[in-house]
Amino acid sequence: MPETPLVAVHTDPPPGNTLENERAELARAGATLETAAGDETLLTALLQKADAVINTVKPLTAQTIALLTRAQVIVRTGVGVDNVDLEAATGAGIVVACVPDASVEEVSNHALALILALSRKIALLDRALRAGRWDRSMLAPMGSISAQTLGLIGFGRIAQALGLKASALGLRIMAFDPYVEDRVIEGMGAVPASLDELLAGSDFISLHTPLTEQTRHLIGREQLGRMKSSAFVINTARGPLVDQAALVEALTNGTIAGAGLDVYETEPLPPGDPLLSLDSVVLTPHSAAFSDTSMKEIRRRAGEAAADVLMGYWPRGLVNPSVKPRRPLKIKPAG
Ligand code: NAD
Repeated sequence: MPETPLVAVHTDPPPGNTLENERAELARAGATLETAAGDETLLTALLQKADAVINTVKPLTAQTIALLTRAQVIVRTGVGVDNVDLEAATGAGIVVACVPDASVEEVSNHALALILALSRKIALLDRALRAGRWDRSMLAPMGSISAQTLGLIGFGRIAQALGLKASALGLRIMAFDPYVEDRVIEGMGAVPASLDELLAGSDFISLHTPLTEQTRHLIGREQLGRMKSSAFVINTARGPLVDQAALVEALTNGTIAGAGLDVYETEPLPPGDPLLSLDSVVLTPHSAAFSDTSMKEIRRRAGEAAADVLMGYWPRGLVNPSVKPRRPLKIKPAG
């Protein structure tokens, strides 16, 4: 145990959560976990003395990272690290880790649920029935999923899990991912495609890339214009992958048929947002990763990654390997 107690700080813990999963792991490193309960002044003070930082959605800008004069590690409790200024963290010699694979099943199930809800018009029919309308006139047009194509943009963990599940329903799978070899895509039973081929040939287009400068607005007016007018866009990855104003325009004009969205350019989705008044969309509040099991595991593993670094080991889910020359950490023994 270190002589001076180590301090981990959670920048934005879920309300009401006691963080026992994180605390149990951090205790292995002799570290306590502190939070500021929404008090920004207190958070600034805590960050200045933090040896480790656990973060969910709060932006960790270069300015915030400059406060971290003691921190060895930042752990993001999920996959995407687009809210962390990686260059600033690496420049400060701080290890950044994420929890890469604890919600693959949940997110792929959620994307599949959105595909099925759109295909079968579940939300639309549910709203009509509750409003007193036994209305089957709105069923058509309705494609048959077993004769349709799902286009996956990004072919990482979540997309591959979704591809397998969707194949079982009879969907043909196309995938666009410039960083994955064609033989890997083919090995999973999918057809490798260029982005243009995928946009033109898919009935459902589901996004599964990280948010980077290359993927911001990957789907804009031009790409929406290349889709079938019967196509649906599904986004469970990150809101800014899609130009939301162009999407609303495409939905309003009938350029495409509908969208299933878990993520938005601004979160929470503001009241009065035009998406909220469109019947052709199914919307969820950035909830795709959630299940009791996945949340518990994500929190435990976030604590584990922070504790590992504090104990002198490289964490699982290392995001910035270029920090290695700055940190004399060891490979954690197995077991
Ligand atoms: P992953 O790292 O396993 O896969 C991402 C894939 O995107 C990789 O195969 C990569 O090659 C590909 N890619 C990168 N840039 C690309 C580009 N320009 N064009 C096409 N493909 C590109 O990640 P994952 O676990 O599958 O997660 C995917 C994303 O889902 C995450 O980055 C995260 O933002 C998002 N996510 C959202 C939720 C949620 O709650 N809604 C939960 C988990 C993950």
